[in-house]
Amino acid sequence: MESAENNGQPPVGRFAPSPTGRMHLGNVFTAVISWLSVRKAGGKWILRIEDLDPQRSRLEYARTLEDDLLWLGLTWDEGGVDDKGPNGPYSQSRRGDIYARYLEKLRRTGLTYPCTCTRADIMATQAPHQSDGRIIYQGTCRPKGFPDCGETAIPDFRHATRLYVPDEDICFTDRVFGPQRCNLTEECGDFVLQRADGAWAYQLAVVVDDALMGVTEIVRGSDLLLSVAQQLYLYRLLGFSPPAYAHLPLICNERMQRLSKRDSSLSMEELRKIYSPEEIIGRVGFMASLLPEMRPCGLDELTEMFDWNKIPCRTGITAV
Ligand code: GLU
Repeated sequence: MESAENNGQPPVGRFAPSPTGRMHLGNVFTAVISWLSVRKAGGKWILRIEDLDPQRSRLEYARTLEDDLLWLGLTWDEGGVDDKGPNGPYSQSRRGDIYARYLEKLRRTGLTYPCTCTRADIMATQAPHQSDGRIIYQGTCRPKGFPDCGETAIPDFRHATRLYVPDEDICFTDRVFGPQRCNLTEECGDFVLQRADGAWAYQLAVVVDDALMGVTEIVRGSDLLLSVAQQLYLYRLLGFSPPAYAHLPLICNERMQRLSKRDSSLSMEELRKIYSPEEIIGRVGFMASLLPEMRPCGLDELTEMFDWNKIPCRTGITAV
């Protein structure tokens, strides 16, 4: 994938699953395409464990996820639960000190303020998947005259920290979905960086991690396309150079609903009982329009055939 920021260097990609259950074919689709893209270009692939949600994340899920990736042949150069590589820890639950440093940096821009509203806070550690419906924050706790009134003091009552967003269009080009334009005031309003209970918001964690880990290309499901503008805004405020983005069609069941943990027949637990790794890789290749017919295919062969121009620009693809 082209990235102006890359200056001809091999790309650094990543797979950033939340270890909240067994992977399904949709997660595998994202992992394979992201892996193929960096391998084709001779780049590096990082495995980051996005376990910010302590209620739903489990170490055993992360270990099983690693086992599933290795079974498929998707090896990583950095990361994982054992923190291989120089940019660790690679599990978000152990990166709180790092997020605190960058929150402080954002505070010093004078664009953050304390918030005691709770409803949106609850959603904040999860990636806000588009289909779940978005909450637009109306600025209830935003101080009068903000942000021109200057930095806000840190209060001694329990509060979340929100970031003011400007009323302007943020534009970028997605590798699959093409040119995009988003006004954060209309899409989400001022967003949470840290919840009142201290939990870190996905948007802050993902930007800090991708930037510090040197990630140059982000490949993930199209349900996160709307998060790009928030992330680009954070890249700008923190002075990081942004990565290239590619969002993929979501893999759907026969009712054209995005796969979930309920579609257990397409979970890796079931798939591994029936298919070989080559059969699953072949399915992914076929769904991604890289292979003209469905047949077993090794990762080396699919890497040869990989071409971003073939990936369909659709919101959903039915699982095969
Ligand atoms: N952790 C998110 C998920 O599993 C992915 C976030 C991202 O790729 O930016 O859906």
